[in-house]
This record gives sequence, structure tokens and C-alpha cells, in this order.
Amino acid sequence: MEAHQPPKRVVVCGGGVIGVCTAYFLSKKGAAVTIVEQSSIACAASGKAGGFLALDWCDGTPVGELARASFNLHRSLADELDGASTYGFRPLDTISITITEKQTSSQSSSSTRPRPGKHSSIPSWIDRPVESPKMFGTKKSTAQVHPQLFTRALIAKATADYGAEVVIGKVEKVAAGDGGVEAVVLAGGRVIEADAVVMAIGPWSGKFGLLSSIFNVSGLKAHSIVLEPEQPDAITPHALFLSYYPADGGKPIDPEVYPRPTGEVYICGMSRTAEVPDDPDQIAGDPESIKVLKRVAESVSSHLREGEVKVKAEQACFLPCTDDSVPVIGEVPGVKRCYVATGHSCWGILNGPATGAAVAELVMDGKASIVDLSAFSPSRFVGRKMTFL
Ligand SMILES: Cc1cc2nc3c(=O)[nH]c(=O)nc-3n(C[C@H](O)[C@H](O)[C@H](O)COP(=O)(O)OP(=O)(O)OC[C@H]3O[C@@H](n4cnc5c(N)ncnc54)[C@H](O)[C@@H]3O)c2cc1C
Repeated sequence: MEAHQPPKRVVVCGGGVIGVCTAYFLSKKGAAVTIVEQSSIACAASGKAGGFLALDWCDGTPVGELARASFNLHRSLADELDGASTYGFRPLDTISITITEKQTSSQSSSSTRPRPGKHSSIPSWIDRPVESPKMFGTKKSTAQVHPQLFTRALIAKATADYGAEVVIGKVEKVAAGDGGVEAVVLAGGRVIEADAVVMAIGPWSGKFGLLSSIFNVSGLKAHSIVLEPEQPDAITPHALFLSYYPADGGKPIDPEVYPRPTGEVYICGMSRTAEVPDDPDQIAGDPESIKVLKRVAESVSSHLREGEVKVKAEQACFLPCTDDSVPVIGEVPGVKRCYVATGHSCWGILNGPATGAAVAELVMDGKASIVDLSAFSPSRFVGRKMTFL
């Protein structure tokens, strides 16, 4: 077998959490890394996600080992980068609750603050009627980061300390010869030479012929709002997973609520499959979905009702989803030294660090040791998709 020659110049395409984590670990291992992002670092899901992390929630699934390794890497990165103050890393407790909107709608018009919920196990700011509260995770097993600040802190470290370079431009083509990849070509014609290329373009993978000829990546559009309550100190570090029954008797939904150390409260949910726009800056939330999330906020806490909060963001972004719900991480079949890392669905912030570390090992050493990547190989799709380049 040919000995693996570590590449000198590596181009990482895509400046989301997966591309940035990959660029960070590659540059730390000594590669000359250029990361190419079409808009700005963490402009898409990696900047608009919840940033919730769980040690063992993926146990028993193909991503269980990746998630555990990544949760632990998040802890060590937080030590290395002072994550607590730089990007809001903190362990937190996690609770699941059921809320029926009908029960709370009469209270939401009241001007007086309602009494705390009757369950002693839930914090007092959750002061609307709730059912079935359950402890879902503790500070040992659940944590959070601010995803945009995390991703930007990591690329700042990679550029400042390990020489990585950020180029703003759209990758149009990976140029390859018999010996493997040679360069990437950007819109406008700029060519960046490369000995290896990593494609980490999230839900845009489905629009890139080299990848979409082998496997599907679809976009699941999900909404979020960021609220700044008047009394941020009242909100304790508890992540909430809701089963929410709307007043109109419609289907229950499962929004998530994440208070942040900044005093802001992030709420997400309301997802549906949709076409991914070419330009990430054109992605806007559907007004109806945003309205529902605001009603969810009011149904959780009087501190989050209209008039008591400033609305800091109303937004949407796309989860990258594969046909078998398993990420795709590995060398692209038929194109030597071209690698892909995508399809992380709802766990990309959690799984970014271990994905980046594993891809860096694969590219530089020829094999990943931090996690076994065989279940993620893109070759599992070869012959299963009937479209061609
Ligand atoms: C509402 C919501 C909440 C979430 N909450 C959590 C959570 O709490 N915890 C968790 O672990 N995960 C969460 N996720 C999932 C997580 O956000 C994603 O899995 C993750 O961000 C995907 O990262 P990515 O780098 O693959 O993709 P993206 O963040 O989409 O990044 C891809 C990047 O590639 C760029 N790009 C695309 N095409 C090109 C091109 N041709 N040339 C150059 N650049 C290009 C794009 O501009 C973009 O910046 C959430 C997602 C959503 C939508």
C-alpha cells in the first residue's frame, strides 16, 4: 500500500461550524489552510442554531460515539479558548415539559404576573401552567454554546495562531486530475491550488454536482427568535424541551427554549422541508411560524410576553439532512483527496468539533483515530443514486 503523504495546502469549502472546526484542527496539525465561504463565517444554521450540547442523547445511534467525543472536545475547547466568556459555553440543566396553549391564553392577557407553576422541580420563571415536567439532563450531561460566537472564536484562533486564511467567495468547482484534486475554482474565475479539499457546505451540498451525483442532502427549514427580557436575572440556566399543544387544536409541536448567559432567550421550532436559496443572506423566516414561536414564549413565562421583551432576532435557517439521517464524512468516491463532511441535521453544533478533528486526521494521517468514520462514508451511497455528473 502507498504510504499516506500529508497534504501541504488544504482548501476547506464552507464557513459553517463543520468547515470551521475542520479548518481549526487541520491548521493546528500543520496544514496551510484556506477556508472559502460565500457570505460570512457562521452566516447560516451555524450562526442561528440553539447551540445545545448533549453527551449521551445520541447513544445507540450511528452518531453516539461521535457525539460523546464531541461533547468532551467542546469541554476542552472551552478551556483552551475561554469559552465561558468568549462564546457563552456553560453546562446547564435540561427539563422537558408539556404545555397546552388553551390553558394559558386567558393568563396572557392579564397584566399581573401569574403565580409560579405548581411543580417544585421547575424554576420560578416558568410561571405558566405546565404538565409532566421531567429532568432530561443535568450539568454533567448537557451544556450550551452561542453557536455563532463559538464558530467565529474558533476561526479567529485558527487564523491568529495557526495561519489559516479566510477567503470570501463562492466555490463553483473542484478541479481534479488523475492524481486527485488540484484546485478549487471560485465564481469570477479565481483559482486556489490545493493538495486536498474538504467540502463542508451543509445544505448547499445538494446543489453541488460533485456531491449531489452521489447522495442527497435536503434542507429542513427551521425558525427561531431571540428575545431580551426586561428582567434577565430572573431567567435561570435551564434548557427546555416542550411538547406544545396549540389552542386551535392543531398538531402538537416541539419547540426548544434556551436561555443564554447574555440574558437573551433563544426559542426555535416550526420546521418544514423547503428549497434552499442560493444566497444564505436571502433566508427569511415565515411570519406565521415566527408568530407561533412568540406565542410559545408567552405560554412558558410571563417574563417572555410581548411588552416585557425586546425582540432581537426573527430568523430561519436550514438543517442539512441526508436520506438515511446519518452524516456523510469521508473521501468522495472517485476523487482522490477530496473529502466531504455534511448532513449533521439537528446536531451539527454538538458534533462539529469531533467531525473537524476526525476529518483533520483523515486528511493529514490517512485515518481518523478519534472516532471510527466507517459508518459515515459517502461510499455507502455509491450505486444507489441514479443521477450523474
Ligand atoms: C433552528 C435550528 C436550531 C439548531 N439547534 C442546534 C443545537 O441546539 N445543537 C446542535 O448541535 N445543532 C443544532 N442545529 C443544527 C446545526 O445548526 C447544523 O447541523 C449545523 O449548523 C450545520 O453546519 P454546517 O457547517 O454543515 O452547515 P452551515 O452552517 O449551513 O454552513 C454551510 C456554509 O457553507 C457555505 N457555502 C455553501 N455553499 C458554498 C459555496 N459554493 N462556496 C462557499 N461557501 C459555501 C454557506 O454560506 C454556509 O456558511 C440547529 C439547526 C437549526 C436550523
